[in-house]
Formats: sequence, C-alpha cells, structure tokens
Amino acid sequence: QEIVDAPIIIVGSGYGGAVSALRLCEAGKKVLILEMGLNWEKSGIPFSNLLKPGKSAAWLKKKTIAPFMNLFSLQPFTGALDRLDFEHINIWVGRGVGGGSIVNGGMAVTPKESYFKEIFPQLDAEKFYNFYFPLARKELKVNVINEQFLHDCPYYKFTRVGEEEAHKAGFKTIRVPNVYDFNYMEKEFKNEVPRSALNTEVIYGNNHGKNSLDKTYLKKALDTGNLEILDLHCVDSIQMNEDKSYTLQVNQINTSGETIAEKVFHCKKLILSAGTMGTLYLLMKSNAKNGFPLEKNVGENWGNNGNFMTGRNWVRPLSGGTGVQQSTIPVGGVDNWDDKEHPFFAEIAPLPMGMDVATALYLLINRVDKKGKVSYNTATQKLTIDWNENHTEKMRANADYFIKKMNRANGGTRSHFLFKNGFGPNICYHPLGGCVLGEATNPYGKLNNHENLFVLDGSLIPGTIGVNPFVTIVAITEYCIENLIRQNEFA
Ligand code: FAD
Repeated sequence: QEIVDAPIIIVGSGYGGAVSALRLCEAGKKVLILEMGLNWEKSGIPFSNLLKPGKSAAWLKKKTIAPFMNLFSLQPFTGALDRLDFEHINIWVGRGVGGGSIVNGGMAVTPKESYFKEIFPQLDAEKFYNFYFPLARKELKVNVINEQFLHDCPYYKFTRVGEEEAHKAGFKTIRVPNVYDFNYMEKEFKNEVPRSALNTEVIYGNNHGKNSLDKTYLKKALDTGNLEILDLHCVDSIQMNEDKSYTLQVNQINTSGETIAEKVFHCKKLILSAGTMGTLYLLMKSNAKNGFPLEKNVGENWGNNGNFMTGRNWVRPLSGGTGVQQSTIPVGGVDNWDDKEHPFFAEIAPLPMGMDVATALYLLINRVDKKGKVSYNTATQKLTIDWNENHTEKMRANADYFIKKMNRANGGTRSHFLFKNGFGPNICYHPLGGCVLGEATNPYGKLNNHENLFVLDGSLIPGTIGVNPFVTIVAITEYCIENLIRQNEFA
C-alpha cells in the first residue's frame, strides 16, 4: 500500500486545528489537515435552514437531530451536524472544514478573569487578557450588535422580552458578542443581501454572514500556500513507530459515508485537533488496537461545561409571545455568576419555529464541580462517559431556581412542550477536557509519553470554562502553538 508522507499532519479543522495550521504555515512549515467532514465551500452545496432541513442537516442520519422537533426524514449524507449519544448525555458536534464553527451560534465570549484563574492557575492571566484573548477576538472577527438595531428589529423580540423579564425578576443581563457580521445582518433586514440569520440558518450551517473558520484562520493559512486540506478523510487509528514518528490509517469516504479508499499516512509531527470527543476516541481506540502509549489520566477531568437547557411556556401569550420571526444569532444573556448559591449564565436563546410558540428557551452554563470520566469499551469499540444525574444535580437546582423566579415575576410555566419535566440536562454543545493541559500533556499540549504528538483542542480545558468555549480554545491554542514553535518542536 502506498504511504503518503507529510512532515506535519493535523487531524481536524475546527478551532484548535485552524489556529495551529495558521501559525505553523506562517512559520514556513508545510501542513496537511485531514478532516472527516465535507469542504462545504468547495462542494458548492448550500446549507439548509431549520425549517427545511436538507443535505447539511445531519451526519449520515435518516432523521434530523436538532435538540427538539425532529419531524423531518433525510437521505443519509455527510451533513454538518452530528450527535453522539451516550447513556445520560447527548453531545452535538460540527463536521466539515471549519469543525464546530460551521454549526455553532457564533457566541464569542471571553471567560471571567477570576474563573479563568481558578481553572488555569498555572497560566499567566495578565498575558491572556492583554494578548491572547484580544488576538483571538481580532482573528475571529468578533463584533457586537448595534443597540438601536436590536431595539427596533422584530427578529430580536425574543431577546428584548427575555431581557425585560429577567430585569423584572431581579437578574442582571449582558450583551453577548458574536462572529456573525452584524452589519451584514442589518443589510439582510433591509433585503439588500441574501438572508441567513434572518432565514433560520444556523445549526445546519450559514450560507452568509457568519465568520466561520473557513473565512478567518483557515483562509489565512491557505493563503500562505503552505496548507493542504483533505476533506472526507476520516482517521481511523494512529500507531507510534519505533523512531517516534506516526502512521495513520485513514478512510476516504464519499458523501454517503461509504469508504472509497483506505489510505496510510506517515508523519514526523502529529497534532490532534479532532475536538474533545474525536481526540479522546482516536487516542483510546488506538491504545486498544495497537498499544499506542497512553497515560491513565487521559479521559479524566471531562465535563459538559455546565450545559443545561430549560425553557418557559406561556411567555406573553396575549402580546405575540417571543416573536414569530426570530434571528438565529443570540445576543443576550442572564449573568448570575456572582450569586454564591446559584452561579450560572443563561443564554437567551432563539427558537425560530416559524410560528408563535410563546416559549422562551435558555441554555444555562454552570460550574462543573463534579467531573466525569471518558473511557473506551473494547467490546463495543465505543467511548463511554461516567456521567449521570449526580453530575448535573447542582445545574438542575440552578435551572429550577431561575425558572421559578422568572415565572413568579412574569407569569409562564415550566416548558413541558420542549423537555420532559421542563429540563434538558442531557443536551451538551460544549464537551471539554479529558486531555487536560499540564496534566495529560506538558505545559504546551505535548502529550505525555510522546515526543512528537500534540493535542490542541477543547480537550485541554478541564471540563468547564463558565462561558461558551471557542474564544478560550482559540486563545489557549495560540498560546501553546507559539511556545511549541519557539521551542523548535516543529524544526
Ligand atoms: P471542533 O470544532 O469540534 O473540530 C474538530 C474537527 O475534527 C471536526 O471538524 C471533526 O469533523 C474533525 N474530526 C473528528 N474526528 C476526526 C477523525 N477521526 N478524522 C478526521 N477528522 C476528524 N461555542 C461557542 O463558543 N459559542 C457558541 O455559540 C457555540 N454554539 C454551539 C452550537 C452548537 C450546535 C454546537 C454543536 C457547538 C457550539 N459551540 C459553541 C461549541 C464549539 O463549537 C466547540 O466548543 C468547538 O467547535 C470545539 O472546537 P475544537 O477545536 O475542540 O473541535
């Protein structure tokens, strides 16, 4: 079998992969990214919206996999959104060139400095807040909605109602920055350009407006001429060779998910940026398959970033509810983080169903005081997560407190329409940890017991960061790759 040789291979083109690729390419290194998902831009296939799910809606599934209201059947296709189902938790991830940035809500939040210090006591917080976070925001093209537009636009009634109700209940709210271009959105509203956020596009991809990684980090990296991206290339397992280089077994697939070629790649330097679940799966599967060296602490300190969904029905039922038309891009949140008893953030989330459902949806982000653990089951060849109701007990108490206080002040009921008992403890968009910086790796992401393998993605963050995580994933990767290049790790 032919072996393709590349000096540096990165597995995955999400945040960790895209940042590493850019900085290595700028340093003059040739980089190859292997990405299991589709290159959507190159394919010319448009993304579909929430009301008409099509090819991009789900990764090789026969039915849609949105968090709720899955009434649509599909032709299996290598779609942009995937859901990994575990016993007590379902984890959504992005698939495609750009990883999670293709499907996510673009909320670009910098963590509270005090919490960052608590989670990463070994890092120089001053340097992060003066340099790496601003750098991440600049490269990601983070911007903030214009207050007047928010005030006037009918598509943001859900945010205005959410904020008014929160204030009436005694909560503090914050404006949430985003990578969606709000100037573009204002033009959409005036019908000067094609609509995307105002046309229910988001978790199946945005055709316009969103500055996903293919428009920022990956574009810049490709422009250097040093990056090659192979899409629909799924890394099956990794082997460490005697000379400490790596051999990768890779399946090239078609858009129906069938393997069309089995390939072997070889590289001296390997970066795993397959996302928290993807990286843990590759490491653990390779360990079970060929004795790939792995320390016991890989899989530990995993968490759902405190993700906990909840909602309220009968929100302003007589005055148009939260609005029939809703932008898919959230811009508001409840900040209750400083409450010692009930610390949480609650994203005031859109629910663009094309009809008035008088329902408010919230994604809470809580502390994760009890961490989970990811393991590999050799019999089923799947990951398992030690994670159950005990891990989310405090999160449920916070959601209950929040909903009760909101309903007391504003009316409304717990949302049985969206969730059983009104709570969605098993919905996770932010899996983090399992390959924690400075525990499973050296201070800059080099995996313990390895000389040439680096983990750079969400798995470095120990299960929680208190806000939506991609700005932190970018900042940490910027920090790690800068130091790894400085230490001549890729010489
Ligand atoms: P990812 O971005 O997940 O990238 C990993 C890539 O590796 C993927 O493209 C995957 O296909 C590829 N891959 C995996 N395994 C293999 C393999 N074996 N071979 C080849 N390729 C492989 N975060 C925020 O900060 N703000 C938000 O508003 C927000 N909203 C979200 C909404 C949704 C619906 C979802 C699912 C997530 C959201 N997130 C949000 C979370 C955010 O997208 C993730 O935290 C982030 O994408 C993780 O970055 P990463 O670099 O760890 O990996």
